[in-house]
Amino acid sequence: MLTFYNEQHAQHRGRHEFFRGEQVPCFEKPERADSVLAELGRRGLGRIVTPHGVPLMSLERIHTPRYLHFLRNAWSEWVALDPANAQKDAFPSVWPVRTLRSDIEPENFAARMGLYSMDSGTPLTAGTWTAAKTGADCAVNAAHALRLGERGAFVLSRPPGHHAGADFFGGYCFLNNAALAAQHLLDDGARKVAIIDIDYHHGNGTQSIFYHRDDVLFVSIHADPRNEYPFYLGHADERGEGAGHGYNMNLPLAAGSSTQAWFTALETACVRIGSFAPDAVVVSLGVDTFVGDPLSRFALQSADYLKIGERLAWLGKPTAFIFEGGYAVKELGVNVVNVLEGYETAL
Ligand SMILES: [Zn+2]
Repeated sequence: MLTFYNEQHAQHRGRHEFFRGEQVPCFEKPERADSVLAELGRRGLGRIVTPHGVPLMSLERIHTPRYLHFLRNAWSEWVALDPANAQKDAFPSVWPVRTLRSDIEPENFAARMGLYSMDSGTPLTAGTWTAAKTGADCAVNAAHALRLGERGAFVLSRPPGHHAGADFFGGYCFLNNAALAAQHLLDDGARKVAIIDIDYHHGNGTQSIFYHRDDVLFVSIHADPRNEYPFYLGHADERGEGAGHGYNMNLPLAAGSSTQAWFTALETACVRIGSFAPDAVVVSLGVDTFVGDPLSRFALQSADYLKIGERLAWLGKPTAFIFEGGYAVKELGVNVVNVLEGYETAL
């Protein structure tokens, strides 16, 4: 297992986020990746590699040039509004919902923050672009490694990516690393790629990016969006559109569902992936399904993550694991590395 490690991740360090109307310390923090890196070191699970930078053109395969331009320049624009802003994170405060227009890009910075975002829980900081871009580098590098013959690659990066769409950030995510990995696999010669998203939250960004396509199957197991973030996508009746009809599978489970129900959903997901017969698999690896996660209400135990890795190995495809959510920092390293070790052991 090759691990592509984002050494720049700590440059994205939010001061706080808004949670249920209050300012609270960020759940998505540098210590998360540190926990996983430390556990990888303890278990000696393969080489840890620094990615080489990929051209912006690679990111434009998934994200719009307008959005990437905004993201690259957002921090300097924020500080240009008022030098005192350098001591504050940038947050959106206004959004172009439904009857308002989103086709015209406003000049006002606050208006553009809203245009390119979906919530106020995602601070944009001085180092956000550098951290997110280096994470995207890791994802593209991991995809490339699979095409060169690796059976498994792990992207250890933050901020996460699966909530980010082609032209918006949110849910702690800015660039969609799983989508970038899948697209790079296709650009590198794969005919079909399956993405399985096992984060507690639905991967709305990834779904929306591939919703009209039949070369990428998106399967997601997550908490029912009626009660859990991202709320406005992730229902079972979303099956894809046009050529993509039948290539999107959502398996929502009520918050509080049993671990047995979760593994039944995993089996359904794996059977669907088997019948799709992809050339490679991308896993959006969130471990906020853990019983001790402060944001979530599933009940998986640390040992369950070994079983997940094992089941994914039985798919028999080159697999890229992309680090997404998981906020129980103390157990995070063990849970993530258990998935990777379960995968390696069952190969
Ligand atoms: Zn999550």
